Amino acid sequence: MEKLNKRVQQLKKKRPGYGEILDFYQKVREAQNKVKTPLKIKSIKLRKEWKELLTKEGFSLIQKEDFPLDIEASIKLFESLCQTGKDSNPHMAEQVRKIKEALDNKKIDLKNLLKKGVKEQRIEQITNEFVLDKKIFSFLIQSSIKPSIEAGMEKLRNELDPETWLKEYCPICGSLPSLSLLKEEVGKRYLLCSFCGYQWRIERLACPFCGNKEQESIQYFFAEGEESYRIELCDKCHQYIKTIDYRTLEESDPVLEDLATLHLDILASQKGYKRPVPNPWTP
Ligand SMILES: [Zn+2]
Ligand SMILES: [Zn+2]
Repeated sequence: MEKLNKRVQQLKKKRPGYGEILDFYQKVREAQNKVKTPLKIKSIKLRKEWKELLTKEGFSLIQKEDFPLDIEASIKLFESLCQTGKDSNPHMAEQVRKIKEALDNKKIDLKNLLKKGVKEQRIEQITNEFVLDKKIFSFLIQSSIKPSIEAGMEKLRNELDPETWLKEYCPICGSLPSLSLLKEEVGKRYLLCSFCGYQWRIERLACPFCGNKEQESIQYFFAEGEESYRIELCDKCHQYIKTIDYRTLEESDPVLEDLATLHLDILASQKGYKRPVPNPWTP
């Protein structure tokens, strides 16, 4: 946390416009960190066929809703994040008020929602029913289960070799990557799972969404003085990914770095490219 706080201060100094969102990020991370130990999550039993399917057919080990959750810790975290949200901006505060009201009146059963495994459909149903901002409700839920998800990912990490998967989706949970990272002197490229946080290796010069390898249809750009952050645009699928170059940047939280470079996303979107997994922290 100390490292993260230091980096937040550095980034705020460099880009004061991001102050509010970076402070919010720091508070959420602090709350998540508090519940990190000791989490009570069930062990994940992998059947033998699963591993075979992974190697032969390219199936992920489990699905998003298969991650065991520490329900109690997640509910506690949800409450604490609601409190943080209340103090952040008026729109968020209003949303939190509506969510709390539905929870207090037992109209939303948080425990039940978490118990059944968080599904996109269910979140959509709830946000429609209670006229909530889907992005905010989903953000609060996902952030509350994040410590459990990461703990589950850690348990499965040893089942896999991050260097040999080389596919466009996470070998653990099947989700799309949110970022790409360059590491080591030679610039090995890794993708960061948008859901569980696992990192796996991918070919350096290919679109991580459609697999396009034709160099003439992949372009990239960066902002002057910010060569450590690069946007890679694919003209085949019209999508883009942000790459963080850790050869020129000290090891830090990639999600934080992503958040502090949202101006690059705005440029990419103005050029007509889509980000398959938008940064969940954007309002
Ligand atoms: Zn994953
Ligand atoms: Zn592509």
